[in-house]
Amino acid sequence: MKVRIDKEACQGHGQCVILCPEVFEYDEQGFGVVRNEVLPEAAERDCERAEASCPERAIHITG
Ligand code: SF4
Repeated sequence: MKVRIDKEACQGHGQCVILCPEVFEYDEQGFGVVRNEVLPEAAERDCERAEASCPERAIHITG
């Protein structure tokens, strides 16, 4: 599975970093960025929770 953040949509709410810090972190402006595009298997569930919780629907998981 792969994950990406739509940078146009992200508003920096930070739900992704809170729910799945293994995969997401903040950039210098406080917006979410993906640390590792290829999801570690152990992080898949947390990442799916982050996808569902992003208020801007900016997280997209594929594969
Ligand atoms: S939860 Fe969504 S809007 Fe908030 S930082 Fe993460 S990707 Fe951006």
